[in-house]
Amino acid sequence: MSNEVIERLHSTCPHDCPSACALEVERIDSKTIGRVYGARDNEYTSGTLCAKVGNYAERVHHPKRLKNPMRRVGPKGVGVDSFEPVSWSEALDEVAAKFSELASEYGSETIWPHYYAGTMGLVQRDGIERLRHAMRYSRQHSTICSAASDAGWKAGTGVKRGVDAREIGDHSDVVVLWGTNAVHTQVNLMHHVSQAKKRGAKLVVVDPYQNATAKKADLHLMLQPGTDGALATAMMHVLFAENLADRAYLNEYTDFGSELETHLSNRTAIWAEEITGVPSEQIVEFARLVGNNPKTFFRLGYGFTRTRNGAFNMHAVSCIPAVTGAWKYLGGGALYSNAELFPLDKSLIIGADLLDRGIRVFDQSRIGEVLCGNPIDLQGGPPVTAMLIQNTNPMMVSPSSLKVREGFERDDLFVCVHEQFMTETAAMADIVLPATTFLEHEDIYIAGGHTFLQVAKPLIEPIGEAKPNHFVICELARRLGAQHPGFDMTAWEIIDQTLERSGLPSAEKIHSNHWLDCAKDFEESHFLNGFETIDKKFHFSPDWSQLGKINAHLPKFPDHYSVTDDRNEERPFRLVTAPARQFLNSSFTETPAARKREKRPTAKIHSIVCERLGIGDGDLIRIGNGLASVVLHVEVFSELQEDVVIVESIWPNSSFIEGVGINSLVSTDPGHGVGGAVFHDTSVWLKTVGANN
Ligand code: SF4
Repeated sequence: MSNEVIERLHSTCPHDCPSACALEVERIDSKTIGRVYGARDNEYTSGTLCAKVGNYAERVHHPKRLKNPMRRVGPKGVGVDSFEPVSWSEALDEVAAKFSELASEYGSETIWPHYYAGTMGLVQRDGIERLRHAMRYSRQHSTICSAASDAGWKAGTGVKRGVDAREIGDHSDVVVLWGTNAVHTQVNLMHHVSQAKKRGAKLVVVDPYQNATAKKADLHLMLQPGTDGALATAMMHVLFAENLADRAYLNEYTDFGSELETHLSNRTAIWAEEITGVPSEQIVEFARLVGNNPKTFFRLGYGFTRTRNGAFNMHAVSCIPAVTGAWKYLGGGALYSNAELFPLDKSLIIGADLLDRGIRVFDQSRIGEVLCGNPIDLQGGPPVTAMLIQNTNPMMVSPSSLKVREGFERDDLFVCVHEQFMTETAAMADIVLPATTFLEHEDIYIAGGHTFLQVAKPLIEPIGEAKPNHFVICELARRLGAQHPGFDMTAWEIIDQTLERSGLPSAEKIHSNHWLDCAKDFEESHFLNGFETIDKKFHFSPDWSQLGKINAHLPKFPDHYSVTDDRNEERPFRLVTAPARQFLNSSFTETPAARKREKRPTAKIHSIVCERLGIGDGDLIRIGNGLASVVLHVEVFSELQEDVVIVESIWPNSSFIEGVGINSLVSTDPGHGVGGAVFHDTSVWLKTVGANN
């Protein structure tokens, strides 16, 4: 290998992160990359990216990258030692033959293609939908990340877009980061926040513990998990009570009426203190700060929506800028995600013309229940007997992981996993196929956190025999007899035609410019031409039944919606499984540098509780509930409420003392409204295990 850096080339980070960073990648030769940098000339990325991708060479050239297709010949769950190498055609023939055999025996819905956001590139990620629809395989309700937050945001605004985050640096007087640990999960945002802070803007963080972002805040509201609706409602009470509401804005742009004001009249800060645990004086201080500074930018995260009341709480929080009229000002308003800003027609990618809405849909967060044959989940249809899995690792990331393991342990389940590494899910598969990384294939990317559409080409040759997702989908389609033009096109042709159908410049043109800024003008992005609801108004009182049917009796107005798994005598603590800085879901848990920085699975437990239990830093603790129990190390930590426990993750199950990971404690109950995994809505007990440093 030559050490000479010969080129610095454009690419896009594909990981499951709102930033979708524009990248500059050092290419050392046709097989090797060097350091990765944030693109300096992209106004959002601004030369900043996270350490894990800066050091991407460690991941892409990792000695444990999967390099050839394999067939399992030993027990499940062991890893590469249970597999023998096979050729690509043998592997694909075997998968296609098994799918055909099982579909003839049980019907096509017995096959369940399962995927998520291991890559965010649209062609490589979503092409699996085209195969699903063409073959009439069981469908997927994608609930593991954004179902609840999407519903809650759209309940008020009608569309998944918001204010351009580039306004923060020069224009916002207050920035509110609500339920997002941006230092861990969207580091570029902090660049814009720092710029604002240099001008004297205030940063407010709302989060159940003092995470890395809260450490930088001027005001941190450390609330009980799942009580964000109460906090938001009390803030609105203060805004009205202290004449800080913008009534002209409310009348012109919202469905505001006296009924709402009456509803808010007894939702005082003291009422909210009881529920949230946040001192009422702090709630009033926060409301006054926001009310006196209409140029307040609310950046709303996913974290606070991963509760049974998550969609409802997202909506409640999104109501605050509508009360203050923050939307009217440059630097004011809110952003949750810009995913629907991009005018892309994805029908070719997903084979929308082949979709049959009569085919059953599984809640992906209930994969354990589905695989274990829960009749409610199977909906009267056949058992799932075969799966194709791309870009996700349900053995680690899905709720109730012991149930998931039980499902994958079934002898009569045939699984093909297409992956970059031998994940815990791949280790349960019958056939494992090696997948390329974003540096080895083409794709098109939109973003949640910014406004740039990007197109990227491969920068190096595939590692070993790794192949892109698009290749696998097309080759399986050919063997299975699936018909759709998308199966006969290259990934680049699909990107190009998708852009053409969307009325956008060609793939080559966007690639040569590195990105296309799809930002809307001030009026549009601030909804000053109206929101995207039926009457163009922001809705304080949405019709939840239009958004989803799951426990759909949600309260009429923002409130505390008390449906969470609250603490009780048996389980007196509330657990939050927050994101670790060096991992991204289960990605990067394979890289030594990330693991070294994260050290080991650790529970942050309040010092008063530690004293009561007689435990200290490095001791072991058992955390449990009715689903499972998990043993991990203790970190004495005081910047959280006494009955809250934080575990930053996702660590592999195998990294825990007993091989049982943190998601074993998470319920498969769906969030109310449209569903959504409830990762931060778990009551638990703690038991000492004994000193062990
Ligand atoms: S911050 Fe997010 S998008 Fe940017 S490089 Fe890191 S993981 Fe990728």
